[in-house]
Amino acid sequence: MTGAELREAFLRYFGGVGHTRVRSSSLVPGDDPTLLFTNAGMVQFKGVFLGEDPREYRRATTCQKCVRAGGKHNDLENVGRTARHHTFFEMLGNFSFGDYFKDDAVAYAWAFLTRDLGIDRSRLMATVFTDDDEAFGLWKRVAGLGDDRILRLGEKDNFWAMGDTGPCGPCSEIHFHQGDHLPCAEVAAGRACLGPACECDRWLEIWNLVFMQWSRDASGAMTPLPRPSIDTGMGLERIAAVMQGKESNFDTDLLRPLIDRVAALAGKPYGRHPEDDVSMRVIADHARATTFLTTDGVTPSNEWRGYVLRRIMRRAMLHGRFLGLTEPFLHRSVEWVSAVMGEAYPEIVRERARVQETVRGEEERFAETLDSGERRIGEYHDAQGAGRGRAMDGAFLFTLYDTYGFPRDLAEDALRDLGWEKTEETDAAWNVAMEGQRDRARAGASFGGDGDAAAAGLYQRLSAELPRVEFVGYDSLASPARILAMVAGPRRVPEAAEGAEVEVILDRTPAYAESGGQVGDTGTLAGREGRGEILDTYYRGGKLIVHRVRVTAGGLREGDDVAVAVASPRRQGLAQHHTGTHLLHAALRRVLGTHVMQAGSLVAPDHLRFDFSHGASVRDREVEQIEELVNEQVQANVAVHRLEMNLDEALRTGAMALFGEKYGDRVRVIKIGDFSTELCGGTHLDQTGQLGFFKVDTEGAVASGVRRIEAVAGTAALEAVVRRERVLREAAEILKIVPADVPQRLRKLLDEQKTLEKELATLQGRLAASRADDLLAGARQVNGIAVVAGRVGGREGKGLRAVADRLRDRLGSGVVCVGSAVDGKVNLVAAVTKDLTKRVHAGKLIQEVAKAAGGTGGGRPDLAQAGAKDATRLDDALQLAYDVVARAG
Ligand SMILES: [Zn+2]
Ligand SMILES: [Zn+2]
Repeated sequence: MTGAELREAFLRYFGGVGHTRVRSSSLVPGDDPTLLFTNAGMVQFKGVFLGEDPREYRRATTCQKCVRAGGKHNDLENVGRTARHHTFFEMLGNFSFGDYFKDDAVAYAWAFLTRDLGIDRSRLMATVFTDDDEAFGLWKRVAGLGDDRILRLGEKDNFWAMGDTGPCGPCSEIHFHQGDHLPCAEVAAGRACLGPACECDRWLEIWNLVFMQWSRDASGAMTPLPRPSIDTGMGLERIAAVMQGKESNFDTDLLRPLIDRVAALAGKPYGRHPEDDVSMRVIADHARATTFLTTDGVTPSNEWRGYVLRRIMRRAMLHGRFLGLTEPFLHRSVEWVSAVMGEAYPEIVRERARVQETVRGEEERFAETLDSGERRIGEYHDAQGAGRGRAMDGAFLFTLYDTYGFPRDLAEDALRDLGWEKTEETDAAWNVAMEGQRDRARAGASFGGDGDAAAAGLYQRLSAELPRVEFVGYDSLASPARILAMVAGPRRVPEAAEGAEVEVILDRTPAYAESGGQVGDTGTLAGREGRGEILDTYYRGGKLIVHRVRVTAGGLREGDDVAVAVASPRRQGLAQHHTGTHLLHAALRRVLGTHVMQAGSLVAPDHLRFDFSHGASVRDREVEQIEELVNEQVQANVAVHRLEMNLDEALRTGAMALFGEKYGDRVRVIKIGDFSTELCGGTHLDQTGQLGFFKVDTEGAVASGVRRIEAVAGTAALEAVVRRERVLREAAEILKIVPADVPQRLRKLLDEQKTLEKELATLQGRLAASRADDLLAGARQVNGIAVVAGRVGGREGKGLRAVADRLRDRLGSGVVCVGSAVDGKVNLVAAVTKDLTKRVHAGKLIQEVAKAAGGTGGGRPDLAQAGAKDATRLDDALQLAYDVVARAG
């Protein structure tokens, strides 16, 4: 059974027993700014379990993409060294929100494993929480397990809690017997294997059932939940290993193809050298985490989620180096991952180009880091004198790592090659340096040393502490509110005086925070003691709406009641351009084709910018059609409906969803007649007629396969047309004609110019001929050869050659050397008739002449040209032509 078949079998089984299939949520938890990444199936249902987020279903099943990296769940360094540690994995789960409880949960799990998957019952065991007799009884009755096949385990293994307070309850695990041929430390020590409780691999935990039945308060007291719930999780990689008879998850069809690609690229077989194998497994695992995290909008950086992604990516790159892959390779692995998982997760296929570009960029940055680190190691070694037998300085290693991002193990390798040794002193010095850095970081956080990072931390905390800010701006532009907190720099401040600029968090606001391409609202804020101007509105720390406010009078204090008003003409402009963006998007898909996908968008009060995927350029005629379609919708004055529905329903009705956006279960849909349906959280017009008029301003390419349209709506569109008309009118005035005649007149003028240029060329030719006559009259016989040398007034290289050609023709047999000076620049041409090229080489002649005027040149034996700088020496230089001919054989 393949991994893909297993995934489908699980979802189908639970779908068949009344569970709603819910899509995997993003790896970036939408509602939880304190959680690094989505790390379990229940994350997207947290609010549902707490009763804060009602859904239309009470049973759900998912295959959730998860990442665990760092922290208590997973030590990054273990990944690749064991059969089962992963950064990225998929979690199969079934959930009951106050619907069924323990008996059904046990029955479903048992039926799926033994009936649908056909796993041998004799290889399964269950564990229950110490005193959970109910679960113990169920495993006996429902599954028919004997007392000796049900193990009671303590709180560490079999008790689950959402947090320090809140829902919690006992767990029950199902374990699979892999076989007693596997090594066990207990057996090696002369004792018996502890079975499912043992650390060894003989028994493998495959499924964890959580029975949420109590709520714990701050004092630790537990009260029964009115409606107990179920949360289960089964790692897809593990169950795939079981079904495919593999002892390592890395040998399943979910991961092995990736390892094979790495092996092929490195030109080394998998399974020959243990250290190479570790590197290949690391890359296979990290390629999945890199692909999925980047797809979900995380970018490598030095902060928070971006930092973890960077560590994962760099660890993969490092292991690539260990395998001898010195060229960037990780971006290629995005394709390998798409090949294995693209069908189940179409987003990674759709986003592939962007993801590859991001990964490639990080690979290049890392290569630079390594180069500069290696240079520093070289300098250090030289400065210290030879290192033979000396201990590496841990403080130096830490500086390399902390300041330059150079990995410690690579630095140690490099120093070892130079004769240095790693000792206990090295480790001790490293630890001292690291402690010092931690202290500095802590100090920075409380005293504003490192502004951005500290502020980010503060917003994470505020976001978790404060109640969710209520956004009322869809229906009103003004609202009373209370100041919950104010932040200046990286610190929370209780008050702000006149002239100060602070970030203000309110309990409720009509101001739209920048998102989905729409820029943030501006406006005013007025309290009893003071007033402020809202300069911008945006999100910080995930979901926290923040207003940047300049205090214009009096002072503002935490706890103040204020009246908030959004600048309404500006908001109207934003609505016009946002509704315009949706109309444009729909029109593009109608005119250019449904392959058009939004690649980026900006909605401003006075213009919009829309980037989209399209392989060819957009023709003028197509731009006109797009404008026509949009303006048709505007004139039809169609109602703009804002609907709320669940995500699957919205996608079924064909709503366009943007990739990389996080959508909750309930989504907002903007529907404009039958013309456009899009998931969107932005502010819109009520009727398309309010848009007034739509005009495309510019169209062009921004990247390969990506086009950009800038357009304007409403007053801004009228202004754009007026501006263009003004240009046209000015042109007509200059030409002294009516605007409609401008193109025709310009065409005529250009034709006339062409004719004039031709006449000019003829006249110049005639002039050259008459000058040639003059020069010819001054021809001298030197060494039996007719020589013409002299200056021609003001001509560039090409005209000069025409003169030389003509003179040579007229001479019949002879040597010509002419020069001109234009704007201080000297041009020279020499021509020799064919009968004389054996005696006089034009190229050599010109070389000598040019040199005398401070230049260089050369050419064929019969024709050569040169340039020189010194116009004052031109006449003397031309005289040299006679000397050269005089010396000829
Ligand atoms: Zn054991
Ligand atoms: Zn929108």
